[in-house]
Amino acid sequence: MSDINRAEILKQMGITQWVLRDAGTDPVSVETGVAAPVVPAVTTAPPSPEVVLAQPEPVAVEPAPSATADIAETPRIVSGAVSLEALRVEVQACEACGLSGSRSQTVFGSGPERSDWLFVGEAPGQQEDRQGLPFVGRAGSLLTQMLLALGQPREQVYISNTLKCRPPGNRDPMPDELAACEPFLLRQIEFLQPKVIVALGRISAQALLKTEQPLGRMRGQVYRYGPDNIPLIVTYHPAYLLRNPADKHKVWEDLLLANRQMAG
Ligand code: SF4
Repeated sequence: MSDINRAEILKQMGITQWVLRDAGTDPVSVETGVAAPVVPAVTTAPPSPEVVLAQPEPVAVEPAPSATADIAETPRIVSGAVSLEALRVEVQACEACGLSGSRSQTVFGSGPERSDWLFVGEAPGQQEDRQGLPFVGRAGSLLTQMLLALGQPREQVYISNTLKCRPPGNRDPMPDELAACEPFLLRQIEFLQPKVIVALGRISAQALLKTEQPLGRMRGQVYRYGPDNIPLIVTYHPAYLLRNPADKHKVWEDLLLANRQMAG
């Protein structure tokens, strides 16, 4: 994608303050070929340093006592699926948590069977529950646009959620529901073998990293996820950006950080 096309897409998204840095001195541009964001005339300081946390496993954080009790009663799903498609069929029949009783259908995920990129959101919403697809509606369109600006057509990345069924009224997922559904996401990651995982939103990031840190403190760092130490980047959920468009540039920065992991 040309810089002109990318700039136009970013402009349509309301991200207008992007300029190319000096290509000779900017390591981001050199590494990725992607225009690095700079807020003009504000500062010439370099972007926040990349902090690499060597975490062979998701960060272990003591859960709240109530959560512990809930999770302890949750039966652990053991999936015998031998392919992503077989896993999808397993998920369709799943009744491991209470959400099976209120869903219209499961929302497994969308994308190719092998994908360098894996985006993990929170849970299906009303539209997703109706259509059986993740990230549809306005939030999904915004994500699609951002991927396009990154030079990644949506069809080439995999998009899923921590939960495969919609919580009633779009409430936050409960700890027992997240624990029950987690094995499905882990198996998805096994099959997809992504080179980078992007956690979209606080719920997803906290669930994946087993932490209660606020999202703002998790951004801007490269975590390592699972036994394969897959780089994991945390950023805002597109639905949050619809309510807080001024933060779109932060997500763009996070996506550029994720993009740089592909080269590594
Ligand atoms: Fe099963 Fe996950 Fe749906 Fe709960 S949310 S019923 S664990 S697929």
